[in-house]
Amino acid sequence: MNLSTSIENIKGIGPVFQRRLKKFGIKTIQDLFFHFPRRYEDFSNLIPISKLKINEVCTLQGKITYIKTSRSWKKRIYITEAIIEDKTGAIKAIWFNQPYLTKTLRADDSVFLSGKVTISKNGAYLSNPIYEKGDFSLDLTHTGRLIPVYPETVGLSSRWIRYILKPLLINLENQIKETLPEELLKEFDLMPIKKALWEVHFPSSLELSQKAQKRFSFEELFYIELFVLRERNRLNKEKSVSLPIKLEIIQDFVKSLPFKLTDAQKKSSWRILKDLERPRPMNRLLEGDVGSGKTVVAAMAALNTIKHGYQTAFMVPTEILSKQHFQEIAKLFSDFRINIGLLTGKQDQFRSKKLKNQVIEISRAKLLKKTLEGEIDILIGTHALIQDKVKFGKLGLVVLDEQHRFGVEQRAKLCRSHNMVPHLLSMTATPIPRTLALTVYGDLDLSLIDELPKGRKKIITKTVKPNQRKETYEFIRQEVEKGRQVFVICPRIEGNNKNEELSEAKMSWAKVKAVKDEYEKLNKEIFPDLKIGMLHGKMTPKEKENIMSAFGRSAVGGRDRIDILVSTSVVEVGIDVPNATVMMIEGSERFGLAQLHQFRGRVGRGEHQSYCLLFTDSSSSKTHQRLNALIKSENGFALAEKDLEIRGPGDFSGTRQWGIPDLMMSSLKDISLVEKTRESAKQILIQDPQLKNFPQLREKLDRFRQRIHLE
Ligand code: ADP
Ligand code: MG
Repeated sequence: MNLSTSIENIKGIGPVFQRRLKKFGIKTIQDLFFHFPRRYEDFSNLIPISKLKINEVCTLQGKITYIKTSRSWKKRIYITEAIIEDKTGAIKAIWFNQPYLTKTLRADDSVFLSGKVTISKNGAYLSNPIYEKGDFSLDLTHTGRLIPVYPETVGLSSRWIRYILKPLLINLENQIKETLPEELLKEFDLMPIKKALWEVHFPSSLELSQKAQKRFSFEELFYIELFVLRERNRLNKEKSVSLPIKLEIIQDFVKSLPFKLTDAQKKSSWRILKDLERPRPMNRLLEGDVGSGKTVVAAMAALNTIKHGYQTAFMVPTEILSKQHFQEIAKLFSDFRINIGLLTGKQDQFRSKKLKNQVIEISRAKLLKKTLEGEIDILIGTHALIQDKVKFGKLGLVVLDEQHRFGVEQRAKLCRSHNMVPHLLSMTATPIPRTLALTVYGDLDLSLIDELPKGRKKIITKTVKPNQRKETYEFIRQEVEKGRQVFVICPRIEGNNKNEELSEAKMSWAKVKAVKDEYEKLNKEIFPDLKIGMLHGKMTPKEKENIMSAFGRSAVGGRDRIDILVSTSVVEVGIDVPNATVMMIEGSERFGLAQLHQFRGRVGRGEHQSYCLLFTDSSSSKTHQRLNALIKSENGFALAEKDLEIRGPGDFSGTRQWGIPDLMMSSLKDISLVEKTRESAKQILIQDPQLKNFPQLREKLDRFRQRIHLE
């Protein structure tokens, strides 16, 4: 047995538990060791029974003198009652719904019990205490000490994890090798890995557990920095085709636009075009709030690339968006002779310059052939673009829209069959706090579009309480009667089965509005005379597309036009329907600020006054603090910082997208730690660019890279 032994080969972990562990990405013993607790419960307070105090969390040790499970006839639940005795006295313990307990715990057993002392009319008792059999407090796992509490899922308790983990850690601790260079451990006073693993899972004190966590945070940050810096070094050596600015064509393009570019658009376009001129790959992130007009900027870069005879790949996150970008880019390029391809799940399309810009359907095979032959100037699509089958003949530029990941990886895939590396332009409307940007995008040059096109009206944002629902529906009706359209966002797709018995956690979830229920309600009861549409992630791409195009038909009274679209968060990014003026969000406290800001950006895109209505029945002050921040601020970047501050990094919306593990998120708040790790990573790479003297580090880094690949 070693660290990479699969959990399937561990005694005590059957197929069911294997599946549950895999939910957390745990496949090997090593993964299990690095599955860290979320918090600790302090049961170290071991006291004699006579000294127990009501409402105090404590641990006692004694002998079971009586234990029995019975079933209450009223509620039909199992109740296990026991009496525990030590030299100083006796106390009752009660467990609910654990009928098998009497198989483990019997009279005469010595046990440790940890829990809270509760009082009822029949006296004091321990309610649902955690138990552990034994006489000696030295090697306790579940009681009598600081015990780790892990992120849990149904059927995977912290108790079980502790039970499996501890013997493995004892058996394999000698195989755990230090991964960080000795100098770093010394310089930053970091705990060695073996000790840190013990202290993080079974801490001897809270301080030591924190010190252990700091070590792992440092390490994670350090890998990210190393990874990013190495990528950067590597790219600096790569060659890319130089694409000098074709000034006349660019000027023609700008003239052909129905609007004037903002200064911020001009500035970032210029930077991008300058990047394209260099014989080294561009690696730039364009950050701009929703609606700030990033597409035109990207189009300009594509045009310049195409006019040099090179192709552009344009990757977007969803099918709907790929279709919309296809149309938008076709429109922007209508005066220019350019072949545009759309590669989607089901129905590929092609707009040919020979066919007078007519859009036709095309078979996948044909589209791929044209792409390989370099005949497609710009190919738009989702992740489908990085399948093995898609090969470009002369790829010059890759645009990634709203792909908050390590763009380098996508690029690596896109240019597999080339000896030249294409230029990369990443775009995002998700504002990224400074510490994050420094870390995750450390290898990118950054351009900001920090102003919106002129003439945009401020979106009126308000919270709506449950008792204002009726008047809000009335308001929505007025907007529709004026010819406008409305989004209704719900946090989830399905309602719950009315007959289902619900656990507490499910109960609170059950109150959350579901798209299907809201759709039914609005369609049948509230607005039977209006046309309501529904959109969610479980629909097929074709269904989604039909709905979006019916919603996009914004001419007043257009046939089959959808007035109100009830949707999940799939409308989050990029959808552009200038005629929509109301964004109504159910259960708004369920969403992150950055995400709410994105929803809000779906309206206010046309000439009409727009509204963002935040429904909530939460009375938590934190919720209102957050929603107020949204009401006050229109600046996505400021909101992201705020979200990080109020909700804490663990909840920060979108961190998953960056592939950053939860535990580490807290360390991102610590900018000085980020800077330290960055500096250390730089030093190491200067000394030893290939990490020849750090085999452990190299191996860890490879694993880290794989993980990023997978996410
Ligand atoms: P995002 O940055 O969110 O991707 P888009 O590129 O989709 O924004 O642009 C949003 C809308 O604004 C589009 O309809 C686009 O045509 C329009 N637009 C872009 N730039 C300008 C501008 N300078 N003036 C007016 N409208 C603009
Ligand atoms: Mg966009």
